[in-house]
Amino acid sequence: MRRRIVILGSSFAGMTAALELKHHIGDRHDVIVLSRSDEFVFLPSLIWVPFGLRTREEITFLLPPVLERRGVVFHRAEVTSIDLAGRGVVTTEGRFEYDYLVLATGPRGHYDGVPGLGPHRGHTCSFLTLDEALAAQEDFFALIESPGPAVVGIAPGSSCFPFACEFVLNLAHQLERRHLTDAVPLTYVTPEPYLGHFGIGGFGRAGERVAEMFARLKIRALVDTAITQVTPDGVHLDDGQTLPFRFGAVLPPLRGARPVQALDAIATPSGFVRVDPLYRANGYPEVYACGAAVYLDPPDAPRLPCAVPRTGYVSEEMARVVAYNIAADIEGRRPVALPAASIDAKYVLDAGNTGMIMTSDHFLEPRDHAWLIPGPEAHWAKVAHEKYFLATRRHGMV
Ligand SMILES: Cc1cc2nc3c(=O)[nH]c(=O)nc-3n(C[C@H](O)[C@H](O)[C@H](O)COP(=O)(O)OP(=O)(O)OC[C@H]3O[C@@H](n4cnc5c(N)ncnc54)[C@H](O)[C@@H]3O)c2cc1C
Repeated sequence: MRRRIVILGSSFAGMTAALELKHHIGDRHDVIVLSRSDEFVFLPSLIWVPFGLRTREEITFLLPPVLERRGVVFHRAEVTSIDLAGRGVVTTEGRFEYDYLVLATGPRGHYDGVPGLGPHRGHTCSFLTLDEALAAQEDFFALIESPGPAVVGIAPGSSCFPFACEFVLNLAHQLERRHLTDAVPLTYVTPEPYLGHFGIGGFGRAGERVAEMFARLKIRALVDTAITQVTPDGVHLDDGQTLPFRFGAVLPPLRGARPVQALDAIATPSGFVRVDPLYRANGYPEVYACGAAVYLDPPDAPRLPCAVPRTGYVSEEMARVVAYNIAADIEGRRPVALPAASIDAKYVLDAGNTGMIMTSDHFLEPRDHAWLIPGPEAHWAKVAHEKYFLATRRHGMV
């Protein structure tokens, strides 16, 4: 019998799940992708956009031709609700029935979680989305014109620790290049219990390396600190301090996509999906989730629990397992179990002209090894990966 697999979202997880599914099931079954955007954005490059180092054209491509060449049907549509009992998805373009559903809708910025936060109704800029990162250029170039204190932060409830860390290092590098280090006192605020925790309980000697880079670039770090609100006077912290700023960039708390957050049966109150090791949602074996839509238990961070970041690589690996398991279920083969914590980790942390390459056998503890290669080659590895990723995905290769 011909089956219909509907995938919600078309970024790292959704695109990979769709292409991998086609690889496994060919034209024997239908794969449909529903997504609010027909543009793929290489989000890791957003840390460079506010400094004018990347344009929209350089880090995006149009998805429909790539997916349709592989036999995937793509609809640009906003998902408004999901009917788990009736196996249907309601969108701005109508209702889609499914036999299998893949939730790959990632997170959304919850700016209202901190009063005064964000570029939309608040006082800070952001770089969670391409549009926000492009808008942040104006704030950065205003700072260059008229230097003053800068604050980069990450609000409690976000999981973007490595990305915020990369951004502050890149900002410091850009200031150093312009001989503005002393004119722009730079403070980094994070709920992490220590630098290099990254929401994953640390990674080998990463913390020491980050601290060294911060010291060299004169970045003051306030760890284990919550941002409570932002006003025109400054960024307010839970220890009573207020940090005045001329440039403020803060990543917001994250929530799951609204229609997923509404699914009490399978999502946490924040809107992320609890899955079993096959990536199936609790009680709904035909519903799978992958990527940043998946909930992961946070490692120990007693005062301010840190949400776990789901990186692009981990998101893609989850999507590959989901695609394999759906194909296996249809065709009567054994599924594979690969809990997210056991996926191998690859991450390049960029600092503008240096950085560190991190790789380990397991994304989360316990790990047998956590290797770290610091140095300028890390920066070039990040640039090379960006070029490689975009060149291959533009041709539908995963
Ligand atoms: C600034 C920044 C820097 C990063 N740097 C790195 C890095 O260097 N290395 C790394 O590995 N990872 C990095 N990441 C993380 C990486 O981008 C994420 O892991 C990845 O994007 C997760 O992919 P995803 O497909 O699960 O979710 P997303 O990328 O968030 O995609 C969600 C998809 O769902 C769609 N969608 C959401 N809601 C709806 C709806 N209601 N209706 C229809 N469609 C919907 C969206 O349009 C999108 O297609 C970075 C992230 C950010 C923000």
